[in-house]
Amino acid sequence: MAEETFITGAQNTWCPGCGNFAIEFALKNVLTGLEKDGIARENIVLVGGIGCHAKIADYLGINSFYSIHGRTFPVATGIKLANPDLHVICCAGDGDAYAEGLDHLIFAAKRNVDITAIIHDNRVYGLTTGQYTPTSYMGFKGKSTPLGSFEEPFNPMELMLCSGATYIARGYTKKMDTLQRVIREGIDHRGFSFVEVLQICATYNNMTEYYKPRMYDLEGHDPADFERACEKVREWDYNRDARIGLGVFYQVEKPTFGEHLREKESLGGKDLESAIAKILESKS
Ligand code: SF4
Repeated sequence: MAEETFITGAQNTWCPGCGNFAIEFALKNVLTGLEKDGIARENIVLVGGIGCHAKIADYLGINSFYSIHGRTFPVATGIKLANPDLHVICCAGDGDAYAEGLDHLIFAAKRNVDITAIIHDNRVYGLTTGQYTPTSYMGFKGKSTPLGSFEEPFNPMELMLCSGATYIARGYTKKMDTLQRVIREGIDHRGFSFVEVLQICATYNNMTEYYKPRMYDLEGHDPADFERACEKVREWDYNRDARIGLGVFYQVEKPTFGEHLREKESLGGKDLESAIAKILESKS
């Protein structure tokens, strides 16, 4: 199919300048590449949460599912387990993934579910007009924090590393090559892929001037080195004047949740058959 058909005719209601456009563009290019490499769009499913980001499910012409707030990961897990041939991509916002859905995110990583999580992290609840989220910076002034947030943001990359994610990367919406590369590699990775995407909310949290001088591409970093990955994910403390690395921080191959499950199911299946046979014998 033609590349342009990945964008639907649905009316786009994102604000001008919103970082979600860049993620949509990157995903469209990645999907086009997947199709060229023989992965039919029918075998790709996108699961969205609730928030501005989730409208991407309307704008991209692939199978998609709107889940409820914070529940993208269990929905995606169910889809993947039901049909392991599908490539399942979760798009979730920072509020969606790190607040309402935090426990689900941790368990998807812990279980190494073979899905790709793309987090649209603009560090604010945009759809509900500007409340702080778990990644809003200390001092952020919004509708729910008019005097400024007095909580430190947490570090989702570090959390994912501790939780067992087997692919951890960061992209930025104004660095399109890196963004597309880490999304594609995340989809190709067998296991739980976590792609943190820093984007701006043009209306409620435009951090372009903060991000611009700090971004750099990880070069010479060995993503197989866990200890080094620990250092790298901590390099940027959100409230300090540190550099912000982009690229793959950590990657390791491990059996997936689905592989474990199918192995148990096949064992369980034999037990079940013999148990049924015994019951039938006792009835005869
Ligand atoms: Fe984008 Fe923010 Fe507008 Fe939502 S409110 S569409 S995140 S710019």
